[in-house]
Amino acid sequence: MSLPALLDRLADIHNLDQAGALLNWDQRTYMPPRGSEPRAKQLATLAKLSHDLLVSQQTQDLLAAAEAAATHFPSGSKERAMLRVARRNMDKATKVPTALVVALTETASRAEDVWQQARADNNYPAFAPWLDKLLDLKRQYAAAVMPNVPIFDALLDDFEEGMTAAELNPLFDTLKAHGIPLVAAIQSRGKKISSDILTQHFDPAAQQAFCAFILKECGFPFDRGRLDTSVHPFCTNFSQNDVRITTRWEPNWLPGALFGCLHEMGHAFYELNIAPEYEATPLASGVSLGVHESQSRLWENLVGRSREFWIRYYTHLQKAFPSQLSAIPLDAFYESINRVAPSFIRVEADEVTYNLHIILRYEMEQALLNRQLSVTDAPAAWNEKLHKYLGITPPTDREGILQDVHWAFGGFGYFPTYSLGNVLAAQLFQSASHDLPTLRTDIQSGHFAGLLDWLRIHVHQHGKRYQPRALVLQATGKPLSTDAYLNYLTDKFGAIYRL
Ligand code: ZN
Repeated sequence: MSLPALLDRLADIHNLDQAGALLNWDQRTYMPPRGSEPRAKQLATLAKLSHDLLVSQQTQDLLAAAEAAATHFPSGSKERAMLRVARRNMDKATKVPTALVVALTETASRAEDVWQQARADNNYPAFAPWLDKLLDLKRQYAAAVMPNVPIFDALLDDFEEGMTAAELNPLFDTLKAHGIPLVAAIQSRGKKISSDILTQHFDPAAQQAFCAFILKECGFPFDRGRLDTSVHPFCTNFSQNDVRITTRWEPNWLPGALFGCLHEMGHAFYELNIAPEYEATPLASGVSLGVHESQSRLWENLVGRSREFWIRYYTHLQKAFPSQLSAIPLDAFYESINRVAPSFIRVEADEVTYNLHIILRYEMEQALLNRQLSVTDAPAAWNEKLHKYLGITPPTDREGILQDVHWAFGGFGYFPTYSLGNVLAAQLFQSASHDLPTLRTDIQSGHFAGLLDWLRIHVHQHGKRYQPRALVLQATGKPLSTDAYLNYLTDKFGAIYRL
């Protein structure tokens, strides 16, 4: 009976964490601004309770007893996987002093509010001391949790188990070596694709109605999920039957909310389709952020920005926005949503330039954490790198270093998972296309059940049961590789720009 006793205890901890997630969702969606200080304390109290319960002698004894009694579970069983993940969580948590956990949670919560205001005011100096504090706390965290590896690798491991900068460097080198010349080839081709179609006025309420329609069409279950509004789009969940996504409605930029919703929907599908028996166990979430991001990218880009998708839905979009779109042919719309152009904002970047935004952040984070770059010099370094990779300089920090929420919540080591997601999305889509020969015509007919089921079977249902490497191998028959992704980019954008 020792495993059930352990799982009961871990479910209590899980429930405290989910309550914290709900407070965090509320903070980012509906909480009035002056609620932020007490909210930070509430979140810190929950984090402390959860942490104390996890590292308590009783939980450690329950885990040790369950491990000792686990020999009768076959290797590779779900029970063994639960114990493996529980041990990993326990080892990480016991190495971090409670005072540091509290400081990190409280600082991150306050810093996020400061960042929101600083971003609105284009006031980097207001945010800088908080960034400095978070970097310092994260250095302490890395030293506590994995003292013998580089700081960046210790932080990356929280998001992508087992991944290191040494492994990422060649992958990013390949993406850079492919991306920079592809952008150059597209620009020198001289084919002008305008984004004017997309910058007309699109009534936010009509956008919201259209996005809800698309989510339903794709199979998003509104009796198990919600769509709300926030400054920075995100997906969170409080149980397998309560998965929430948010987006921001920009009146003069149609793709922001539209593709933001498809992106977050991909994350939501993952959480919604984990095997019900894993609910509140250590296996009850996506295996890593990179694999999670592969799901959002797959729906946002490989489905949502495909010609097939818009063959099906463009007339619906035209009906939602007749004065803006009725005179615009499908081809012009398709090209405009796939326009390649160096730009300042990562979340609005096209598929070709996107990874260069990630590489910039990846390099800057390592320099900041290793003290090769100061917080004061960071905005200039940002601008210099963007110019080097994309040939443009942000007019203000709002379009530069202040644009992302990640550093404001201490999410260092997080950004590389976006590029891992891009690469894996293409590899999974290639495997799904192989198993589902009618996939493209299915998308064109608005039939997504086959694809969703393929993803559920090969990725979603497993939760954290397999480590990222094993899951990729099992789902696609090969290790993670940039091959499918680079072919996808070359084929798609070669056709659009007639390269
Ligand atoms: Zn995402």
